[in-house]
Amino acid sequence: MVSKVNSAIPYGFEGRLVEVEGDMSRGLPAFNIVGMANKTINEAKDRVRSAIVNSQFSFPDKKVTINLAPAELHKDGTYLDLPIALSILILSGQLIKDDVKGKLFVGELSLDGKLRPVRGIINIIEIAKKAGYKEVYVPINNLSQASLMDGIVVYGVDTLQNLFLALKQQAKLPISNPDDVKHTATRRLNDTILDHIRGQQLAKRAMEIAIAGRHNILISGPPGAGKTLLAKAAANLLPSLTPEEKIDITKIYSIAGLATDEIIEERPFRNPHHTASSISIIGGGAMATPGEISLSHKGILFLDEIPEFPRAVLEALRQPLEDKRVSISRANRKTTYPADFMLVATMNPCPCGYLGDPTHECKCTEIQIQKYQKKLSGPLFDRIDMNITVEKVDNSDLLKPLGDSNDEHTVVKNNITEAIERQKNRYGKEGFYNSSLSSFQVSKKLKMEQAAEELLTNASERLNLSARSYFKTIKVAQTIADLDKSDIILAKHLAEALTYRRR
Ligand SMILES: [Zn+2]
Repeated sequence: MVSKVNSAIPYGFEGRLVEVEGDMSRGLPAFNIVGMANKTINEAKDRVRSAIVNSQFSFPDKKVTINLAPAELHKDGTYLDLPIALSILILSGQLIKDDVKGKLFVGELSLDGKLRPVRGIINIIEIAKKAGYKEVYVPINNLSQASLMDGIVVYGVDTLQNLFLALKQQAKLPISNPDDVKHTATRRLNDTILDHIRGQQLAKRAMEIAIAGRHNILISGPPGAGKTLLAKAAANLLPSLTPEEKIDITKIYSIAGLATDEIIEERPFRNPHHTASSISIIGGGAMATPGEISLSHKGILFLDEIPEFPRAVLEALRQPLEDKRVSISRANRKTTYPADFMLVATMNPCPCGYLGDPTHECKCTEIQIQKYQKKLSGPLFDRIDMNITVEKVDNSDLLKPLGDSNDEHTVVKNNITEAIERQKNRYGKEGFYNSSLSSFQVSKKLKMEQAAEELLTNASERLNLSARSYFKTIKVAQTIADLDKSDIILAKHLAEALTYRRR
C-alpha cells in the first residue's frame, strides 16, 4: 500500500514542492520518516501520531514509512505534519487517494489535532499556484494572510477531524476572502509630524526631498538638535504601498515569523540599536532569517548614531544599498531576500557630541574625532545621496508655543505625493523613484538645462566627485525639479542638490 500527498515548504524568498509518500508493510509496528528529515521532522512523528489518535482515527499497527521527496531538499520546520497525517489516513484506508488528488496541504499539528499557523504561507501559495494547483489547505490562522493571493482557492483548516469531514464532502471549510483580512502596522506607533519640530527648516526641506525621491540621507548634528524627531516624522511622510509591495513586505514578515496571519499595510520603519547582532541586521542564522535591512524593505531603515554600529555591519550594508537585495550564505545554500530600504542615519559631530557647540565644551581629542568620523568609510558615504548638518535649536525658539496645527506636515506630504506622481508618469511604473535610476538611465531619461550642466561640470572638478556621487547629485536634482513641478533640471535645482553632497 502506497500513498502520495502534495505539499510545499518556503525556501528563502521562494517555495519548493514536496511530495509526501507513504508506504505500509507487514512487520513489527514502526513509524519512520526518511528524506533528509531534520530534528524538527523527527518530532513531527510524535505530533502526528498523537493528533491522529486524539482525533478519533486509528493509527495503523504496521510498519509505516514516510518518504519526503525530493530527498536532497533541506526541510526545516513543521510544515509537513498535515500531509504526513493525511498520508497515514490513506495508508490505513480511512481516506482514499482521490480525496487528496490535485490538492496541496500544509500545516503544523498540535497533539490534540488542531492546526497551528506556519511561517511563509505566501511562498507556499505562490509555488502551489505556479505548479497549477487549484486548491490549497492551510492552517486557519494563516488564512487571512493567504487572502493576499488571488487566482487560487485557499481553505482554512482548524482541525484534522474537520479537514477529514470536508474531504469526505460532509463539512465545509472557510475559504480565503480578500474582504476579510486582518491589518497590522509594522512600525512602532509614532505620531510625530513636522509641525512638532521647532525651526530646522533646512533639515525639513532635505527630508521632503529625500522621501520624495527615496534618497538615503545622513543627518549630522549635536544632541538635542531634533535628529531623531526628524527621522520619526519622515516615517509619517511615506507614501502608501502598491499591491505588489504589500505582498513582498508581508511575505518577508511572514518568513521572519513576525506576522503569520496579518497583512502589512504600512511602509516599515525599523530602528535597530547599534548593539544588535550582525545577523539580526543583515539576516542569517540557522534558519537564514531575514534581517532588519529586509524587514525595512520599501520603508525606512533608521540607524541612529551610525558610527556606533560595528564596522563590519556598516560595510555589509554597501552591497544591499547598491543591489536592493541581500544574499545570505549558509553551509549548504544561498538565500536572497529583497532589501530595498531607504537609509536614514544620524551622527554626532564627535563622540561627545559637542564639537562646534558654543555652549558646551567638546572633550574629545583630535584622534578620537578623526576615528569617529572615519567609521563611515568613503565607499559607504558615497552611497548616501544626501548629507545635511543640523544646528542646535536656538533657546528663544524653544519658548515659542507649538500649537496643534498639522499644516506644515500636510503641505509637505502633498508635495511629496505630487513629486511621486511625476516620477510614476516619467518612468511609466509605480514604485520606481529617481534614486532607482542607473547611470545609463540618468543620461537617457533626465533633461538638464545648459547652465545646470556647466554648474555640474565645474562642481565635480572642484569637489572631486566620484562617478557615483556625480550621478547621485543629478538624481537628487531631479527630485528637486519634480517638487518644483519642472520638467527639466534647472541650475537652481542642481545648485541645491550640490549643497547635500558636502562632507
Ligand atoms: Zn566631542
